[in-house]
Amino acid sequence: MEKLLLIPGPSPVVPRILAALAAPTVSHVGPDHVADLRSALDDLKRFVYCRDGQPFLVAGAGTLAMEIAVLNTVGPDDRLLVLSQGFFGDRMAEIAASFDLAHDVLRSPWGQVVPPEEMLRAVAEKGSTVVACTHVDTGTGACAPVRAYAEALRSRGLLFIVDGVCATGGLEERMDDWGIDVILSAAQKCFGAPPGLALDVFSVRALEKRRRLGRVPAYYSDILRWLPIMQDPARYFSTPCVNEMRAFAEACRIMREEGLEARFVRQARLGAAVRAGLRALGFGLFTDETCLADTLSVVLYPEGVPDVPFRTLLSENGVVVAGGLGPTAGRVFRMGHMGNLSGAEVLEALEAVETTLRGLGHPFEAGLSRTAAAAALAR
Ligand code: PMP
Repeated sequence: MEKLLLIPGPSPVVPRILAALAAPTVSHVGPDHVADLRSALDDLKRFVYCRDGQPFLVAGAGTLAMEIAVLNTVGPDDRLLVLSQGFFGDRMAEIAASFDLAHDVLRSPWGQVVPPEEMLRAVAEKGSTVVACTHVDTGTGACAPVRAYAEALRSRGLLFIVDGVCATGGLEERMDDWGIDVILSAAQKCFGAPPGLALDVFSVRALEKRRRLGRVPAYYSDILRWLPIMQDPARYFSTPCVNEMRAFAEACRIMREEGLEARFVRQARLGAAVRAGLRALGFGLFTDETCLADTLSVVLYPEGVPDVPFRTLLSENGVVVAGGLGPTAGRVFRMGHMGNLSGAEVLEALEAVETTLRGLGHPFEAGLSRTAAAAALAR
């Protein structure tokens, strides 16, 4: 039985994208691949509302995209401020530490975000020149006020990096209008493509910064080695994952057909439906009410529902979710609801949660979940 994959990425991959992946492998310098990569790059740029910047698509995943963002913008004369609201912000700081780049970390409590005023205080105190944040932390489900950060930093001339691995293509990120310099992401979350691609979009300013840095401690991650290929995909630097790129181009086509704004609205509805449905069954939310992400939910168990037996039985009932990370382990499960997921699939997942609770002998009012979720979907 095919299970509904509702972990916080990879998201389920629809048959049309899988078919693109399975088509015969072609030359990485031939016209078919050139057309796929061109189309994917154009779309990626459009999806982050970027006019003149430069998108990069490189075989790898989100962590490579983070490394690319940091190594190409933070030099020996810089000081990076990492805003961390959990697991993946801390990873950004680890990347900076691995390359001995001067950095500071400003952490929020798990489930919350760093307020913009605190960011500005830290920037002034530390003399930061570059700031990085996580749009949605996949460990905590907290969604950062990216626009407020960007607008505050723009007027002060700082470079701003956004980790959009759990957001880009599902939540609005306006590179030019808000003033973001690098948006990094990965294929397997809101794009609904299979894992295997690091995505980075550099603003003109970020590209200029890379040029000013001269030598950077990177080879595969050096965007100047990739730039000629992104401008002319018939050229070679390192063999691209042609099948994955075709699948990604198809995923982007699906997004274009749906319309980006319509996709954001669907994403918001799915988030609201999941939350309403689970709350009706007695679950809580780990994440602070003020910063709930629509792309995934970090869900607190009701009293008496044990983590591993719940997730094991839920999987047997056809839905796969993930356990909690770090301090939340055992207390929560994490459910992704990104990409090309439909409202009907969310209702199906909630039904499986009901069946699972019933199987564990836990009391709840049958049908309430579906009614609450359906109402949220209709809004
Ligand atoms: N940043 C965020 C916000 C993430 O959720 C993830 C992956 N879950 C990453 C970075 C790292 O991406 P990957 O696992 O594709 O390397």
